[in-house]
Amino acid sequence: MTAGTRIRSAEVLISSPSRNFVTLRITTEDGVTGLGDATLNGRELSVASYLQDHVAPLLVGLDAHRIEDTWQLLYRGAYWRRGPVTMTAIAAVDVALWDIKAKLAGMPLHQLLGGASRDGVLVYGHASGRDLDALHDSVRERIAEGFHAVRIQAAVPGIRTVYGVSSKPTGRSSYEPAQRATLAVETEWDTDRYLRFVPDMFDSVRQEFGVELPLLHDGHHRMTPIQAARLGKDLEPYRPFWLEDCTPAENQEALRLVRQHTTTPLAIGEVMNTVWDFQTLIREHLIDFVRASAAHTGGITGLRRVFDYAALYGVRSGSHGATDISPVGMAAALHLDLAINNFGIQEYMQHDPLVAEVFHSAYTFADGCMHPGDDPGLGVTYDDAAADRFAYEPAYLPVARRVDGTVHDW
Ligand SMILES: [Mg+2]
Repeated sequence: MTAGTRIRSAEVLISSPSRNFVTLRITTEDGVTGLGDATLNGRELSVASYLQDHVAPLLVGLDAHRIEDTWQLLYRGAYWRRGPVTMTAIAAVDVALWDIKAKLAGMPLHQLLGGASRDGVLVYGHASGRDLDALHDSVRERIAEGFHAVRIQAAVPGIRTVYGVSSKPTGRSSYEPAQRATLAVETEWDTDRYLRFVPDMFDSVRQEFGVELPLLHDGHHRMTPIQAARLGKDLEPYRPFWLEDCTPAENQEALRLVRQHTTTPLAIGEVMNTVWDFQTLIREHLIDFVRASAAHTGGITGLRRVFDYAALYGVRSGSHGATDISPVGMAAALHLDLAINNFGIQEYMQHDPLVAEVFHSAYTFADGCMHPGDDPGLGVTYDDAAADRFAYEPAYLPVARRVDGTVHDW
């Protein structure tokens, strides 16, 4: 090891340009820096403490080049494996080290991952509405911005607040589930009303926009297996690109029943953290798309492991890219998307413009696709002075209750 690539410091940076982000910055003795996204939506400070109090002291003096060894040291060495806090912290270290390695090589990260397998990364945007007319307007906005695939969510008649629907009439980044408050907002839920409504929503969007536009929908883990099977079957005439998170993610076997009943493609994985969470889903071909995030699944190293396993079974990627993924996590996803053969689609929910004041990113969006850019490393820099203007504010994801008051999956 050359002395200059030893890790000199690992700093935890917290900022809140419209929403909270936790970022890890690793610096080598030669002054080369790497960034990793350590944001865990609604539980941000737990990862900040995990990194600050337990991981940063272990990193100082290690060779920044030894990415796999450091990943294994943090994963096996903690004894307490897996889980969102641990795997988000490991992800931040992993991505920061890949950023450093690519900068030292003088190459954009995707070159070190095998080089580009395609010219650009197909992304989908979010459209939502408080009624079907507003949803149509929102779909039109995404198409006008250049999106070639759109996720559709709409308010369900009879339910006051619904996941994925903006409180504002229109606006590209107006839906932000994490609310700045000291208590979580409570929302209402009724699965029967939802199951009756969603096929009508697809029907109206297909009538308005035709059969060719790829349409996606997120069930947000709200259904039982038999309910999800019913919805998948009801949506078949509308040929969705995918039905996302149809059942609670803990029970991989639950997808067997859904799969037996429907040919609607299934995507799941944004709350999963390791390849083990996908083992049954992939081996039994119970899903079509892995919906995980490099920021929560052990970084480039952890997510590549999931994608390579998925490739054996013809399962494709569909990485999480909501606004809780910082530009650092988004860049990591884009480099991996560009390099792997079994890429499917990438979520792109577009941050509030304030985010670009803190994170300067090289990635671009045009004609339905994104590209991570050709800057050495990830292609993202962090503006400390700008970050200082946006102090952390407590924020929670909402919780959901059924109409009789029972807590339901949000
Ligand atoms: Mg989802």
